[in-house]
Amino acid sequence: MKKRTFIKLCSAAMTIPLDSKLSAFASPEKLKNWAGNIEYSTDKVSSVDSVPEVQEFVRKQSNFKTLGTRHCFNRIADSTQQLLTTDFSSQSPMLDPAARTISVGPGVRYGTIAPILESKGFALHNLASLPHISVAGACITATHGSGVTNGNLATAVSALEIVNAAGDIVALSRKENPDIFPGALVNLGALGVITKVTLNIQPTFQIAQRVYENLPFSSLKQYMDEILSAAYSVSLFTDWRNRRINEVWLKALYDPAKPPIKQPKDFFGATPATKNLHPIAELSAENCTEQMGVPGPWFDRLPHFKMGFTPSAGKELQSEYFVPRKNALDAILAVERLHEQVSPRLMITEIRTIKADDLWLSPAYKQDCVAIHFTWKPEWPEVSRLLPIIERELAPYKPRPHWGKLFTMPPKELQPRYEKLPDFLALAKKFDPNGKFRNEFLDKNIYNAVG
Ligand SMILES: Cc1cc2nc3c(=O)[nH]c(=O)nc-3n(C[C@H](O)[C@H](O)[C@H](O)COP(=O)(O)OP(=O)(O)OC[C@H]3O[C@@H](n4cnc5c(N)ncnc54)[C@H](O)[C@@H]3O)c2cc1C
Repeated sequence: MKKRTFIKLCSAAMTIPLDSKLSAFASPEKLKNWAGNIEYSTDKVSSVDSVPEVQEFVRKQSNFKTLGTRHCFNRIADSTQQLLTTDFSSQSPMLDPAARTISVGPGVRYGTIAPILESKGFALHNLASLPHISVAGACITATHGSGVTNGNLATAVSALEIVNAAGDIVALSRKENPDIFPGALVNLGALGVITKVTLNIQPTFQIAQRVYENLPFSSLKQYMDEILSAAYSVSLFTDWRNRRINEVWLKALYDPAKPPIKQPKDFFGATPATKNLHPIAELSAENCTEQMGVPGPWFDRLPHFKMGFTPSAGKELQSEYFVPRKNALDAILAVERLHEQVSPRLMITEIRTIKADDLWLSPAYKQDCVAIHFTWKPEWPEVSRLLPIIERELAPYKPRPHWGKLFTMPPKELQPRYEKLPDFLALAKKFDPNGKFRNEFLDKNIYNAVG
């Protein structure tokens, strides 16, 4: 978004209390997040286009937040004082084929770098359901795709540069700073302005995507591991009605040198779709990536939604809870017990897997996870009453919520689920001794540490 358009979106500062701002979709003229359920709390937005500009800006401010592509559903990116956008449109991504890395500026989206990588014969290991999000914003919240052997998107980062509260550039890499790098990566925006992210890349690969319909829950009970690991990336979509998974999306590696894999007529009781489908079967599949086993490049198959189109359903809310993969069945059945309350508020649930990692604030820290995601209708009053019920039902499996989506879990429950939180707070103190990058979300969820 160009600076002028962006600033035009902003209007007078708001006086509505925070909770009521979340409770309804906001009026059209305010600067909002992608879903439109959050109005940012200030109309002051500045845009910078280079690292020296970032440094100068940071030195002048006492408190502000940086915006990515505004795809978070909660107030993690909000500020009552000042917002910053970091377009860096004048800088191109730097591909280093020998080192097998690509370095990008802060505002760059996955959808922008993917075709560049593909044209040079490279790929990333995984992508989220949509390519529209910024690399920095995604890594900060531990955004993920699916696959039992795939870590979240931040696990591909080998180095990053952050402008800290003093306005100094701090360069960190996995190799040079193994003690703090895993803490600094999924940082919830608490350490400063990320100005450069270096991602590991690999030779390009192809994926053939197939969708199956109506997988009975009884198959999940018997074959959970086989189903979740049936392809490179597997997504299960359910509306929790009729004890079935409505759609199974299998994204399988495809090698053109080998004979094509035959599509089985039966996938643990599910039947092959006969045309491309949207995760919400009633919606048009026009904005979805190609299915029916037609092979294509990784970036055109790993996300569910194509770059040039509106992803997902549009006006919606999202929540997601990560539980250990070993508890996948019990956690799924726990939500299923709530189906009479969940289904009327729901557009669709997606169930995915994420490989364990070493990133301190990653929900997959030291545990292979299954993530149970909810795309809700835009009915926050009802959804906000439902989330504590879901969180209570999942409590035996110590769920960790997605940092960028809606949750109601109190900090006293959330914080003990992150054993490295005290180390992270010590790290944040070094980068930001006076709270320049703090906001209400961070104060509530991580700084208000309960002993
Ligand atoms: C339709 C839709 C589909 C989604 N699908 C997935 C999915 O498949 N998997 C998944 O895990 N999540 C998914 N998400 C959630 C999304 O990936 C995360 O919310 C992600 O953080 C969004 O990135 P963003 O750039 O839009 O961040 P923003 O919402 O703009 O910001 C997120 C955080 O990053 C900070 N930030 C951004 N840029 C910088 C920077 N340069 N320096 C410092 N701080 C910065 C912000 O201050 C804030 O704390 C989806 C969201 C939507 C709307």
